Amino acid sequence: MRRFAGQKAFLDGTILQSGHGTTITEPSELDPSGQARRRSEDNHTPPFMDQENYSRRRFVRRSVTLAGASVAWNLLRCGAQAAEQDNPQTPDDALKELIAGNERYITGEHTHHDYGPERPALALSQHPFAAILGCADSRVSPELAFDQSRGRLFVVRLAGNFADDNGVASLEFATSVLGTSLIMVLGHTECGAVNAAIDVFTKGASLPGHLPKLVSNLQAPVENVRSQSGSILDNATRENVVLNVQKIQTSEPILAALVKENRLKVVGGIYDLATGKITVLS
Ligand SMILES: [Zn+2]
Repeated sequence: MRRFAGQKAFLDGTILQSGHGTTITEPSELDPSGQARRRSEDNHTPPFMDQENYSRRRFVRRSVTLAGASVAWNLLRCGAQAAEQDNPQTPDDALKELIAGNERYITGEHTHHDYGPERPALALSQHPFAAILGCADSRVSPELAFDQSRGRLFVVRLAGNFADDNGVASLEFATSVLGTSLIMVLGHTECGAVNAAIDVFTKGASLPGHLPKLVSNLQAPVENVRSQSGSILDNATRENVVLNVQKIQTSEPILAALVKENRLKVVGGIYDLATGKITVLS
């Protein structure tokens, strides 16, 4: 696990730095709405023991509650750590797990995901082993298509699955902070965004609202393949994936450095809407 100094708060969500010292947030301090109350180490008097609230009966009741919560806290931490230990250890192993998960998805042998027990552990930490840059298309759901539970994939989605600055920054966070070792740029068949870009750049179509700005990011893949034989939609979809893989691989200063150190692999894939199969591009 690669961690940057001062970023532990992002990693496990348990320690928050404040101007008044370290603040620890534990499950026992979660209110019913999920909002964490903070207990400052500068103030060693637990809030339930202040003069206004203190009574022996309340103290005993809260002590029992905290003891139980402490046990649960440790179990959840162990669960989160176990989840990290189950992760593929190398970029190649991560890719193998994605391919195997897609096979389970296609054959209907997908894993049963018990969302209830997963939720508390994931509230404490996340350790996604792969990041997916995918299209926003409602028919392409990476967690389902790769048969992965929550917390295992860091998914960035945008119509046309291209990496703008915000997308690159998101992937920098996934890789350098969360330790994700694989990025897959995932295009898909019959992509409406790519189709719109083809209409704009080969037929002079005009689009309303903010769509021209979006499809401008897809001009290069369309222009690169417009003279090729075969389906321009299929070719542009593939070219868009290839160009974005290259962009991510060479993105300085963070992603390119990780690739050079063999700590990060970037691959492309195409999801077939009709079959669910994801073909990894060579
Ligand atoms: Zn799409």
